Amino acid sequence: MSQQTVAVLGLGNMGGPMAANLAAAGYHVVGYDPVPAANEAAVARGVEVVPSAVEAVADASVVITMLPSGGHVIDAYKGPDGILAAAAPGTVFVDCSTIAVEDARAAAELAHEAGHRALDAPVSGGVGGAEAGTLTLMIGGSETDLDAVRPVLEVVSGRLVHCGESGAGQAAKICNNMILGISMIAVSEAFVLGERLGLSHQALFDVASTASGQCWALTTNCPVPGPVPTSPANRDYQPGFASPLMLKDLKLAMQAADSTSTEARIGALAAAIYTDFAFGPGRELDFSAVVQDIRDRSQSGD
Ligand code: NAD
Repeated sequence: MSQQTVAVLGLGNMGGPMAANLAAAGYHVVGYDPVPAANEAAVARGVEVVPSAVEAVADASVVITMLPSGGHVIDAYKGPDGILAAAAPGTVFVDCSTIAVEDARAAAELAHEAGHRALDAPVSGGVGGAEAGTLTLMIGGSETDLDAVRPVLEVVSGRLVHCGESGAGQAAKICNNMILGISMIAVSEAFVLGERLGLSHQALFDVASTASGQCWALTTNCPVPGPVPTSPANRDYQPGFASPLMLKDLKLAMQAADSTSTEARIGALAAAIYTDFAFGPGRELDFSAVVQDIRDRSQSGD
């Protein structure tokens, strides 16, 4: 059987390891990224790198995009010089970037109009999950198109959830991350309140982790050092999931809340808190470091 060609556009923190895992699984992976360092790292891990996105998709039956924003995806897709025009008819375009639901729907429509198939497939699991090939993929698009690429996606994923039609994967992603942003602030406020009441971190953790306060922000990504030794708090809040990425997802959630007239007051407050934090002291830190900001503001009486 001839080797299947998969194009990967965007060889950054996430796309790089995903492409490497596909190459290791025996696919012919052709990659493109405008940043030379990303290309060099990919070549060292078995990816053939070409000088343009158009060349990358020319012989591919599956095109994975892992780009910073919806604008990047639409720009890459569109126009006479875009990748939709360059790909063979019937190519499956799988966008794994985190982008707005509206952009995901628009991207899928562009792909369908150009005679291709399309899925939105945002991921959760971070760089660790991308390296390990255990990402959770949230899929929007048709079951038939998903079945066509399932073996490819299973290389990068530990769990695939088909969420519905185009845009449903992105919808699931931003709803989940809105819960995450809100719950991290809630857990952090509870730890700071506990500190000020003379309660030890461990005592609060031992109670809340087995009581109704239990959540991922507490039991996996615990914002204070000690109770969960693998959480970023134990390594000076090195990400993990960096605060600017949490802010990005909360903004996408608020954009969706606005466009659907959804009452999401706590989500909006979480977005405001992460706007301050991600542009200020949290710029390079894991999103759980928001606990430090809450503590600092409590001490200064702000
Ligand atoms: P990154 O900035 O490390 O990588 C993005 C790459 O895309 C960069 O190398 C950039 O040069 C490249 N790029 C930009 N325009 C391009 C184009 N036209 N063609 C090809 N490549 C292009 O970002 P990342 O951390 O890999 O994140 C990628 C996406 O995954 C984002 O949408 C992000 O929100 C999402 N995501 C990230 C994480 C995470 O933990 N890093 C987790 C889940 C989802």
